[in-house]
Amino acid sequence: MSALVEARGVHKAFGHVEVLKGIDLDVEAGEVVCLLGPSGSGKTTFLRCINSLERIDGGRIRVDGELVGLEERGGRLHRLTDKRIAQQRRDIGMVFQRFNLFPHMSALENVVEAPVRVRGVAKAEANRRAVELLERVGLADRAHNYPAQLSGGQQQRVAIARALAMQPKLMLFDEPTSALDPELVGEVLEVMRELAADGTTMVVVTHEVAFARDVADQVVFMDGGVVVERGTPAEVIGDPREERTRTFLARMR
Ligand code: ADP
Repeated sequence: MSALVEARGVHKAFGHVEVLKGIDLDVEAGEVVCLLGPSGSGKTTFLRCINSLERIDGGRIRVDGELVGLEERGGRLHRLTDKRIAQQRRDIGMVFQRFNLFPHMSALENVVEAPVRVRGVAKAEANRRAVELLERVGLADRAHNYPAQLSGGQQQRVAIARALAMQPKLMLFDEPTSALDPELVGEVLEVMRELAADGTTMVVVTHEVAFARDVADQVVFMDGGVVVERGTPAEVIGDPREERTRTFLARMR
């Protein structure tokens, strides 16, 4: 069986600057993969490529067997229409550094919105599921609060519930705790730990080395647009082979 995410030789440039220089990645269903590496190494760009938020210049990414952002026609690759790309994105949840909640909607309304509008789920059913999801992220009592009435950690937990509401095959997290005050980081990581324990397939860009060590099945260390090393947390974090990985980890302590 093939992996849920299969990236091969992914290249991406912004202008003349090559940011991804041939990235390969396999993520099995149920697996948690953490992408670590210094700032500017291409982690966020790669994550965004998995969700077609960036268009790749070379290589291929498949999610659940389907090419992302591209289709093969007449032996050549063509970019999908924006409509098809939007359809593919429905199956991939993404949580950003900034929570990006709709400010004029309550926590509950934020979670209900996409299933109703995009998937055509009945309002009552979407509401029932949203209440469950808010419970799951520990915010049942905050359902009717607006984002401005919530702490950053609470807003990020709503953002996680909102992504889960679409019942995605895959969850992508782009430095989900790096915009938070230090005392709020733990509550978000705790929700992510629970998702991982429930078998959610997750790719997480993070600087939280302890989280990666405890939760990841696979750690991928990137630098300068390439994968420097990958393996289990015990290998990459506990006993790194490469000097660049060791230097990075030493700085994170
Ligand atoms: P990381 O997530 O590892 O910090 P990024 O993927 O955010 O790295 O960035 C990799 C490089 O790509 C950086 O040099 C960054 O400045 C550049 N970059 C990212 N997004 C853009 C963009 N939209 N336009 C131009 N350069 C970009």
